[in-house]
Amino acid sequence: MVNIGTTEKTFDSARRSMAQRLALAGIKHPEIIQAMATVPRHVFIEDALSSQAYEDSSLPIGREQTISKPSVVAKMIQALMQDKKKLGRVLEIGTGCGYQAAVLSLLSEEVYSVERIRSLHDSARAKLRPFRISNLRLIYSDGIRGLTQAAPFDSIIVAAAGLGIPDPLLDQLAIGGRLIAPVVKSETEQQLLLIERLSSQRYQRTTLDEVFFVPLQSGMI
Ligand code: SAH
Repeated sequence: MVNIGTTEKTFDSARRSMAQRLALAGIKHPEIIQAMATVPRHVFIEDALSSQAYEDSSLPIGREQTISKPSVVAKMIQALMQDKKKLGRVLEIGTGCGYQAAVLSLLSEEVYSVERIRSLHDSARAKLRPFRISNLRLIYSDGIRGLTQAAPFDSIIVAAAGLGIPDPLLDQLAIGGRLIAPVVKSETEQQLLLIERLSSQRYQRTTLDEVFFVPLQSGMI
């Protein structure tokens, strides 16, 4: 017989160890480590994979998509946050299973998370419902267009790799705001790009780590 209590305790301790290991990956923000120690990643992936939930790996979430590695989630959030304590109003492109959206909600004033695949949007909504997160909105839409009705955003985080940064996302970034996105360099290479909006016309770009994300695609399915 499965002992639910013991299983949950095993997940809790695995999650705490995962969060502690983030410090070795260069995560310095106690708030980020705390958020990663709080959100139960195993709840967002299928049962057959839940024993791997607290390893530092990306895992399939259906529809050929993947949940990002915990260390990459933490690094992207840290790059957006720098020395601030909160991310402000956030736009996430690519809700996927909803895990990163839950992490972001603990570190932001408000989070808007957009997904283009209806079945993933619906299942993320169902998984997130029990957490009753009051500052998170899930939107079924094509994130390449951004989310005009809620712009501008202090932080934009893109969880899928495009050939460049879509113009609407640059337009919808608040002055002083930051955007992070994986961008395709060649058939086998992608790089994280951090963009800070300095004024209405000026953007500063910094390239960060090599990464591997699923593609940013247009249209809704
Ligand atoms: N943050 C997610 C990672 C999901 S993978 C998580 O924690 O699980 C990236 C997601 O981006 C996929 O679900 C994919 O469908 C979505 N995506 C790709 N292109 C998109 C677009 N143009 N608009 C919205 N979502 C998109």
